[in-house]
Amino acid sequence: MFEKILIANRGEIALRVQRACRALGIKSVVIYSEADKDAKYVKIADEAVCIGPAKSAQSYLHIPAIIAAAEITNAQAIHPGYGFLSENAEFARRVEGSGFVFIGPRPANIATMGDKVKAKEAMISAGVPVVPGSDGELPLNDKEALKIAKKVGYPVIIKAVAGGGGRGMRVVHAEEELLSLLEVTRAEALSGFGNPNVYMERFLTKPRHIEVQVLADEYGNVIHLGERDCSIQRRHQKIIEEAPGVGITDKMRKDIGQACVKACKAINYRGAGTFEFLLEENEFFFIEMNTRVQVEHTVTEMITGIDIVKEQIYVASGEKLRYKQSDVEIRGHAIECRVNAEDPFSFIPSPGKIDQCHFGGGNGVRIDSHVYSGYTVPPFYDSMIGKIIVHGANRQEAINKMKGALLETSFTGIKTNIPLHLELMQDKGFIEGAQSIHYLEHYLKIKHSNS
Ligand code: ADP
Repeated sequence: MFEKILIANRGEIALRVQRACRALGIKSVVIYSEADKDAKYVKIADEAVCIGPAKSAQSYLHIPAIIAAAEITNAQAIHPGYGFLSENAEFARRVEGSGFVFIGPRPANIATMGDKVKAKEAMISAGVPVVPGSDGELPLNDKEALKIAKKVGYPVIIKAVAGGGGRGMRVVHAEEELLSLLEVTRAEALSGFGNPNVYMERFLTKPRHIEVQVLADEYGNVIHLGERDCSIQRRHQKIIEEAPGVGITDKMRKDIGQACVKACKAINYRGAGTFEFLLEENEFFFIEMNTRVQVEHTVTEMITGIDIVKEQIYVASGEKLRYKQSDVEIRGHAIECRVNAEDPFSFIPSPGKIDQCHFGGGNGVRIDSHVYSGYTVPPFYDSMIGKIIVHGANRQEAINKMKGALLETSFTGIKTNIPLHLELMQDKGFIEGAQSIHYLEHYLKIKHSNS
């Protein structure tokens, strides 16, 4: 096992990885930008290295600074968290090339899955069901593109091959819009991701977002930890996640889980990963694979009792997977609410000083947050300041507990989206469950006249 790990991230996930290291008795080094010097995990770190100014390009995305920090602190491995460099194959390669262990998949797997067309091809050959669409990248020829769209059937969605984070996508409802929207999406893809190539899929009108967590070791052992429902989204950003998914039967779970396990074996995958699917009329359609730990990994941890970050570290150190599929047992129901520093209904970011902050607690309530009273939320990064996760014997109990935890939580000085979460925990449609990915936007339009 490693003696020291460097955590190449910030915010709640830096704290999450630091906690896993402590649980394993491993020393950890945190890196931080000048804007993050007061974060909780920095103050309590075994070692902390300032790697540059607030701007991510000069700090959390600056590969030489991160590798230098690992060198001067004698870390043996680097955990990338999520976001930033976590799905950057070049970073993984340079980490390994510099003699450190990358706590994540093989660089080749990251590269394949980071290219959504290649990822889909890999899934098709492994027998995983995908959304029907163009056969790879769309050709530049207009006539060809029109022909393909007609065959796929409107509405279609154009997606950047190199896209991510819910950006670089456009829905096209009718033929006359196709060519102009295609051009805009290509231009945005080039400026946002450095790659203008796009592909096309049938736009599913009322899907749910269901994803499957997998864990794999160096030696080809792979298990799945069941699914999460992440359908409560705004602008393709998840805000509430839960596990298991309402109405997902044991047979559905087993079938889709086994397909993901098979795909991991086919591509020789290692580490933690997530297969994202859209589910419509009981049919799963693969959309992408995330080759890293996800924000919402916590709900899976709550219902399986398996610490996903710890397992990432174990398999990266060369250990065999410590669980067999038959060891994975799903108990009760878990829900996560992402707490964002933003206006709950206009969604305008609200960084700044937190005068007072207090989180709820109790049996089955977990708080993953790096903020505290007196902490200033910097304006430079994502607005998520923490996560409230609850575990209940069943879904209704989890909702009740979440409502209690939210009522107990209070922030002054900045705005948070807790009022929206509280509303949703009492909303008939949310309580009913199994809503589509459009539910929240529809809800906001009706209840708060948001467009
Ligand atoms: P990203 O990498 O940017 O997260 P994804 O491919 O995972 O992109 O898609 C993000 C979200 O966009 C999905 O969760 C879903 O809400 C929506 N989406 C993507 N593809 C489709 C599709 N074919 N039909 C309907 N919605 C889609």
